[in-house]
Order: sequence, then structure tokens, then C-alpha cells
Amino acid sequence: MEEKLYTIPVNDAFDQKCECPVCMMRKKLEDDAIAYTLGPSYMEDDVRMETDKLGFCSRHLDVLYHQSNQLGLAIILSTHFAKINANVEKLSGAATQPVRAKLFAKKDSLPGNPLTDYLDKLNGSCFICNRVDGTFGRYINTIFYLYRTEEDFRKKFAASNGFCTAHLSLLLREAGSHLHGETLTSFCKTGTSLYLENMKRVQGDLEWFVDKFDYRNTNEPWKNSKDAIPRAITKVGSIVYEDDK
Ligand SMILES: [Zn+2]
Ligand SMILES: [Zn+2]
Repeated sequence: MEEKLYTIPVNDAFDQKCECPVCMMRKKLEDDAIAYTLGPSYMEDDVRMETDKLGFCSRHLDVLYHQSNQLGLAIILSTHFAKINANVEKLSGAATQPVRAKLFAKKDSLPGNPLTDYLDKLNGSCFICNRVDGTFGRYINTIFYLYRTEEDFRKKFAASNGFCTAHLSLLLREAGSHLHGETLTSFCKTGTSLYLENMKRVQGDLEWFVDKFDYRNTNEPWKNSKDAIPRAITKVGSIVYEDDK
């Protein structure tokens, strides 16, 4: 069974002290994908064909730019540019063609042509997101597999700090396809109450963080509020900062 392959990284994420174990899993996959992109792999033809075609989303371009391999990034981007320029050259005639409405386009979306279709597709694709998403989906399946089959994991799940907003929604939406009956009910109930309980805890941390700026509280302890902001950002923005690990 495929899920058995991923029980270690999933358990590892739930063993860490954090505001969302699903964010931790995704962060690890992302870090690995970034290291892979700027590692020796970019000299391999099949990898470069993919990065040339897909490019990177703005967030991942920003992350790549802040890594230490400027030469690697310049090489990757230069052939990506060559690919874009060749494609746009081929499609440039279409820019002057009358725009056509897409058959199944949403009402509010503007009509396009082959050039704008290409530009939009390019804009929406990312080599790193692609690489992360494939394994991430399997990790999510593994969470349900472990919840269904292991009492120890159910305990670990219930003892966690809950999830971020996006990942609670993901888990609740997916739950019905993996779990049934009592197990499904307990998963959704536990996930939701963990979310609320821990959102309230972080809210309290934020409030004490604000109160600490009152001169009357200067000598009071920080309690758990020192890192309230990065932890709050994990909860509502699914971002994990390095020191938060
Ligand atoms: Zn999350
Ligand atoms: Zn991306």
C-alpha cells in the first residue's frame, strides 16, 4: 500500500512542536525541492526541460533568489527565457488576432487568444509547486491511513496543536473520501475542536504580546508570547518561519 511508504515523514511532522503539522510536512518537501532545483540536478537535461517549460511561481522565485547559488539560478533562468522567447515568437501573430471567448470560461473572465492562453498557463505553472504537490497529496492520504489504522497516531493527532486554516479545510474536505462512520465523525470533530482551541490559545498569546507594550507590564514575563506573531502567521497564512521549526 502506497501510504505505508510515507508513515515516517508524516509521524515526524506530528512529533514536532508546531502550529500545523501539515505545514511542517509541506515545508520539508518544499525545502527538499528547492535544494534539488539548485543542486546538481539542474545540469541534467530532463530536469532542465521541465524548468524551462514550467518556470517558477513568484513565491518560489523569491525563495530561489535568496539561496546561495546565483550561478545555478542564472543558468536555469537563461534557458527558461530562451524557451519563453521562442514560444512567444511563434505565437506573436496571435496577439493581433481578434480575441475569442473561451467556450467554458467563467462569466467574468476576459476572452483570450493562443498567446494569452500560453502566457496564463506559464504564469500558473511552477516546477517546485509541481514537485511538492505530488508527494504532498500522498502525505495527506497517509494522515487518513494512519488515523484509520493506528491508535497511537490518533492519540498523537489529538495531542497536536491543530492545523492552520487552509489545512483544516483541506483535511475536512478530504476526510469523507478516506474515512467512514465513527472514525470520520471523530476525525472531523477532533480536527475542528483542535483548531478552535489552539486559535484561541494563539489569540491569547497575541493579546499578551500587545499588553507587554504597556509600560505597566515591562517587568512581567513574556509567557508564551515572544514568538506569537510567526506562530499566528502559520495559523492563518500557512507560512512556517525557520526559527519556528
Ligand atoms: Zn498548515
Ligand atoms: Zn511554486
